[in-house]
Amino acid sequence: MTSSFADLDAFFDRTADERLADYLELLRLPSIGAQTEHEGDVRATAEFVADHFKRIGFEHVEVAPTGGHPIVYADWLHAEGAPTVLVYAHYDVQPVDPLDLWTRPPFDPVVESGRVWARGAADDKSHVHAHIWAARAWLETRGKLPVNLKIVMEGEEESGSEHLDAWIAANRDRLQANFALISDTGFYEGNKPAITVGLRGLIYMQIDVTASKVDLHSGSFGGNVQNPANAVASIVAKLKNDDGSIAVPHFYDEWRALTPRDREEFARMPLDENSVIHEHGLHSVWGEPGFSFLERRGARPTLDVNGIWGGYQGEGSKTIIPAHAHAKVSCRLVADMDPDKTLQRVRDYVASIAPPGVDVSVVKINDGMWSLTPTDHPATQAAAACIEEVFGERPYYLREGGSIPAAATFTRELGLPVVLLGFIQPDDQAHAPNESMRLDNLHGGLRTLVRYWQKLAETAL
Ligand SMILES: [Zn+2]
Repeated sequence: MTSSFADLDAFFDRTADERLADYLELLRLPSIGAQTEHEGDVRATAEFVADHFKRIGFEHVEVAPTGGHPIVYADWLHAEGAPTVLVYAHYDVQPVDPLDLWTRPPFDPVVESGRVWARGAADDKSHVHAHIWAARAWLETRGKLPVNLKIVMEGEEESGSEHLDAWIAANRDRLQANFALISDTGFYEGNKPAITVGLRGLIYMQIDVTASKVDLHSGSFGGNVQNPANAVASIVAKLKNDDGSIAVPHFYDEWRALTPRDREEFARMPLDENSVIHEHGLHSVWGEPGFSFLERRGARPTLDVNGIWGGYQGEGSKTIIPAHAHAKVSCRLVADMDPDKTLQRVRDYVASIAPPGVDVSVVKINDGMWSLTPTDHPATQAAAACIEEVFGERPYYLREGGSIPAAATFTRELGLPVVLLGFIQPDDQAHAPNESMRLDNLHGGLRTLVRYWQKLAETAL
């Protein structure tokens, strides 16, 4: 690094008490987006975030209505000629139940064992807080930021980001930037520094099989009609091959093959399958041959039955032929697969394997696009350099199995590359009781962010 950050680091030392108090205040706000009784709390949290950006010198600060929970927008655009970064995080949190499994109250944060314990301490208020304070460190210490920042923080991430796409589309012009930085991820197992570069997409479907208007007497009709429960089982049985690969024709046609370098990066990350088995109570790890656990999770598509039902499931016996039967089926998708094309292929295949005597349809429930940032993108490389300087280790490039809808939205609606930079430790218990955030990670994150803004100013994007 060419610049010195002594003044910025000194600012963090000097403000340690105030910073912690401010973080705890944010965590006391029960911003559970999914529950209407917390609507006022969610609103108050949006105001808290907006107010902080206003106080540290951001402009055009807005608590923007969306039809759901508001989106906080703020910008600082006085770094002439320097890159512009669109920064995304979310201020809503997951519900807390079951409450009796919490050893400390979820919205009365406790500092203990080097961690802060509270709902949202990690996901995602650690990053909301870090972005406020990293910007404040620059503005208070040097009177300016080295890059232009546009802040977008939403309150519906944990409940599906329902209004985000429309708001982004409606604000396309003012959201122009060089890239989008999403802070909602974390480090690798063992708290090893990591940058998430991949997220999987999704196509979620329901298969409906119908053969009659009402359930039929199995004595009168058995053997003379097709049984929808048998039929749905027969369809589901043909969706996958015995080795775990997916049997739908052309399913893998657009799949982007792993390069030797991709495979090296996967192999570099340590993974103990036995501890995965133990930790999650698995029978065993099983999957497609030719790929490692992490490759299957991050770089291969899936097809899974999420639920299957039909007919009588109560006590004792009921001799019927069910009128209808169903299965929920979802596919996780990776580069360069298309959700709609995949849906169409599954539909065609199901039609071709459906037994005679039933009506079969495949209905789309929802979808989402995958995201994959090239590791050699200069904004990714700059993030890696700053993480290495602060945490002392070259970060892993992680491909996650899950999805963050905002990532694909920024690419699709705004044409922006996406960098996912976050500092949460893997055992944060996000979405579960006893969520926590390591203060080391939070402080390291702050120091990384102030360096990142400078590094980007010196980078050709
Ligand atoms: Zn999150």
